[in-house]
Amino acid sequence: MACQEPTTITTIPEKIIPPKPKRIILMIGDGMGLSQITATTVVAEQPLALEQFKHIGLVKTHSTKLITDSAASATAMATGKKTYNGAIAMGVDQDTLQTIVEYAETLTWKTGIVTTATVTHATPASFYGHQPSRSRVNRKIAAQFMTKDIEVLMGGGWTYFKDGLDGRDLIDEARQKGYFVTNTIEVGEYVPQKMICLVSSELPPRIKERGDFLPKATKKTIDILSQNNASFFMVVEGGQIDWGGHQNKGDYITEETIDFDKAVAHALAFAQKDKNTLVLVTADHETGGCSVAKGSLKKKEVTCAFTTDYHTGTMVPIFAYGPGATEFVGIMDNTDIFHKMKSLMN
Ligand code: MG
Ligand code: ZN
Repeated sequence: MACQEPTTITTIPEKIIPPKPKRIILMIGDGMGLSQITATTVVAEQPLALEQFKHIGLVKTHSTKLITDSAASATAMATGKKTYNGAIAMGVDQDTLQTIVEYAETLTWKTGIVTTATVTHATPASFYGHQPSRSRVNRKIAAQFMTKDIEVLMGGGWTYFKDGLDGRDLIDEARQKGYFVTNTIEVGEYVPQKMICLVSSELPPRIKERGDFLPKATKKTIDILSQNNASFFMVVEGGQIDWGGHQNKGDYITEETIDFDKAVAHALAFAQKDKNTLVLVTADHETGGCSVAKGSLKKKEVTCAFTTDYHTGTMVPIFAYGPGATEFVGIMDNTDIFHKMKSLMN
């Protein structure tokens, strides 16, 4: 018998498939531009969680106008479409746009929404509600929430669920739908399947009264959604960084950014352990035209100067950690955030 010819080994180069996350945590510091972050690094007692990120990009925030509002910019991130200021997940022709939360539901991913504003406020609402205008629609958005299958909702706005001219009690309806409904995040170790936590009747107060609601709510939402190794998409908003910007108050901005960063720390800690979670931290726009004008590193003091009491068109940073993070390096449009997340979820 003749010896066998040596087999030629052909190596087919493996197609490079970027790693895909099983879970995405999108964190939005409303109005959190680079100066807001810089000022916070000066006054913070310790390095920010944000300083641990290695993949960083810049985001163009404009709507159909150069200066966006929070509804249009949240809609851009939530739906991938530019729209007019004031639109809640609706396009320029007032067409209803599917949001990333609604898309996640079609994939049977679990979903959650956390904010330091009311849960019906422009930023969170644009991830699950659809309204042609953001003003005076709190009840309508609350009613739209009830038509969804979002596992977690946390923020302010108890009154929009409780009392309505339509005669419905949405708190009661939510309980019937299996939600654990509370008005406090202090629920200990209890991890329900579905939870609605509305900590204030209308807008939540500042930190002094609010305490560490946001970090705790972020942690609790992760605990709820990650049960049984489930895939999930959640969005966390630090909503009051923007309010500090509108009021041109540097101390309001930095205390809110520190609080938001503590929520980021929880997300990052989970992602580092989990290894299948993409954490994105960005802003919907800059507020105040804030600059770091004066201060002292030694005394941990900073004085911000402002050019406006409204939003600006300056690009905002995006920080990414986990599978897919490299997609978020460079300059991108806010609508790209949606498209990148969606393709990573496939
Ligand atoms: Mg907001
Ligand atoms: Zn604003």
